Amino acid sequence: MKRFVSFLLLIAMLLPQKSMAWGFWAHQRIDRLAVFTLPPEMIGFYKKHIVYITETSTKPDSRRTMVPGEAPKHYIDIDVYGDSALYKMPRYWKEAVARYTEDTLMAYGIVPWHVNLMKYQLTEAFKARDTDRILRLSSEMGHYIADACVPLHTTENYNGQLTGQRGIHALWESRLPELLAGNYDFFVGRATYIQNPQLRAWAAVTRSHLALDSVLSFEKKVTSEFDDDRKYSFEERGGVNTRVYSRDFCEDYHRKLNGQVERQMRYAIALVGSYWYTCWVDAGQPDLNKLAGISEQELLKMKEEEKQDLQKIIPVRPEAYLPPADFSGHYGCTH
Ligand SMILES: [Zn+2]
Repeated sequence: MKRFVSFLLLIAMLLPQKSMAWGFWAHQRIDRLAVFTLPPEMIGFYKKHIVYITETSTKPDSRRTMVPGEAPKHYIDIDVYGDSALYKMPRYWKEAVARYTEDTLMAYGIVPWHVNLMKYQLTEAFKARDTDRILRLSSEMGHYIADACVPLHTTENYNGQLTGQRGIHALWESRLPELLAGNYDFFVGRATYIQNPQLRAWAAVTRSHLALDSVLSFEKKVTSEFDDDRKYSFEERGGVNTRVYSRDFCEDYHRKLNGQVERQMRYAIALVGSYWYTCWVDAGQPDLNKLAGISEQELLKMKEEEKQDLQKIIPVRPEAYLPPADFSGHYGCTH
């Protein structure tokens, strides 16, 4: 029990380090770079608020523990619905509820439907010329879209816990990009109009889920070639000596994945920009140069959220940290 308490304390110490889901680093990068995919009529406004957009991109993860119903917006465990669920699952919310009930959908995640809901909300915010809402929704929608582009956000085995690969979630979406994204090419071209936002969200989930087999099988392969002493190393995080995947192991895994993390990040950046652009077009292309600045109130709210970040407790899916070697407890996941 005492060890468990000190384990919790260790997590509490690690959390303010900001590393969860795509990793805070990657989420910020994706939203920031999406700005540069926008057409001339939009880019000035988004650039002006790029710091706010970048910072706010991680807020949905920060509130996962505090807001009931938040966690399922970040993923969908599509494999719990059976083998061909990826193709058979009703694409639209109402039909999916009719088939499975809302409780079931909430239990296994709703990311593709949530992206579509946010698409509607952002379009409405553009129509209302509401600067605060446009920025907040743009940034947060970027987060959920990016999550849908992570293969491990589409499976019940989200942290490799069912296949003896615990820790793989943070390895793929935090450790690899944070260590190796230096050479990634983030020039992804211009945002394009999305004809059907709901189906496009499903296309992102489908693409991610099809990449899952490589994510898991290559990690297994590399692990078979490394003993534990080489697979892990120690790094100081916030004054705590923390066990992490070693650089050698990460580089080998990354090589075997053959550009997969980079491809998914690039795909996410282009997709985020395209959703923003589509909302603006569907709202009648309002003149963003005529919008008011961001309000004092919204900036205060942002500061308040920063403070709350530091008080975070155990996340619902604490996938970003690597558990101690002898940790055999279970995660506080939603189901
Ligand atoms: Zn997330």
